[in-house]
Amino acid sequence: MALIVQKFGGTSVGSVERIEQVAEKVKKFREKGDDIVVVVSAMSGETNRLIDLAKQISEQPVARELDMMVSTGEQVTIALLAMALIKRGVPAVSYTGNQVRILTDSAFTKARILQIDSQKIQGDLKAGRVVVVAGFQGVDEQGNITTLGRGGSDTTGVALAAALKADECQIYTDVDGVYTTDPRVVAKAQRLDKITFEEMLEMASLGSKVLQIRAVEFAGKYSVPLRVLHSFQEGPGTLITLDEEESMEQPIISGIAFNRDEAKLTIRGVPDTPGVAFKILGPVSAANVEVDMIVQNVAHDNTTDFTFTVHRNDYNNALSVLQGIANEMGAREVIGDTNIAKVSIVGVGMRSHAGVASRMFEALAKENINIQMISTSEIKVSVVIEEKYLELAVRALHTAFELDAPAGKGD
Ligand code: ADP
Ligand code: ASP
Ligand code: MG
Repeated sequence: MALIVQKFGGTSVGSVERIEQVAEKVKKFREKGDDIVVVVSAMSGETNRLIDLAKQISEQPVARELDMMVSTGEQVTIALLAMALIKRGVPAVSYTGNQVRILTDSAFTKARILQIDSQKIQGDLKAGRVVVVAGFQGVDEQGNITTLGRGGSDTTGVALAAALKADECQIYTDVDGVYTTDPRVVAKAQRLDKITFEEMLEMASLGSKVLQIRAVEFAGKYSVPLRVLHSFQEGPGTLITLDEEESMEQPIISGIAFNRDEAKLTIRGVPDTPGVAFKILGPVSAANVEVDMIVQNVAHDNTTDFTFTVHRNDYNNALSVLQGIANEMGAREVIGDTNIAKVSIVGVGMRSHAGVASRMFEALAKENINIQMISTSEIKVSVVIEEKYLELAVRALHTAFELDAPAGKGD
């Protein structure tokens, strides 16, 4: 008998009919004798609807109250799923994050899980109940409700699996696994049977929303066997594995990730003196804005240009901080651009192959796509380009790195 944590995402519980379908599925697993803990998201669109409501009251709602409200989305689906299970004769009980006691820090809207009390859940499992837990939420030391950041139900699932020492954490969603790139953008994308934690971590952090990055971190740290599967279609899905198999057939690139959520800021004509980067980025970081890519140009006439990217939500904040710095430093001007996107190729195979970056640049050059910024690490190369070329770039790279499904397959 196995203990399985199953997480169902927003579209998988997007209607009463779907919730009934999920209940049927869980019932089948129960009948096989497995212990099941289910984590659910809010119905698709619900979290966005709630955030919109808050924004009608205030452009920047107080984070504590925002969490209080958005956590209600998941409270609805846990109760509905528990009802659907009980209706089918499957004993079940639902819990909010607070009721389980998923203890988090107090970083509202992006809280981190610190500890999970697994006693109550274990008692229910022993008594033969399916336990349905609200994803995306927890509670801090003071009893305030917190949320874990967008896509955070994945992290609830993996963290519960770690705490309960589950045999597997299954992430059920609206695609049948992790693909070489978002299958909604590239019809020829292919499902991967396996992907390493390291690659999945890069893919997630570079914009692939199929798994929240913290979920992958958790799974790697606690060696939780993690699988991504389709909610309503049979199939093996994608296993996220620890072992990096040495094989001649290992592709150089495993996947292509992209991100439209960034914006670019440039401060021009800053005096090229020691400490410039700190003078610029210090205040930006003090304003709680996270910086992603950074480029400082070679000085010319003793002045230099400094460019960096931030999350688009932080753009206005970063722009006003930067304008203040520019005045102080006597810089020439500040330029901002929100029409950018980041495209990244990811693969552990890159370690042992030279020329991967140039192959990437060649593919983009062939499509006449201008590269604005570049950053590399051991297993990825990222470029910033104009947003309107994003899909073209992803498709061109998918073909250039021979990731396209053979004709007749994949679409
Ligand atoms: P859920 O609501 O179940 O959490 P998400 O929308 O968060 O689902 O994640 C699933 C979506 O992730 C897919 O519909 C797909 O469009 C997107 N996606 C992005 N990159 C990938 C990828 N490499 N492989 C599979 N899906 C991807
Ligand atoms: N409902 C939350 C969101 O939409 C959490 C999740 O679905 O994982 O971000
Ligand atoms: Mg998700």
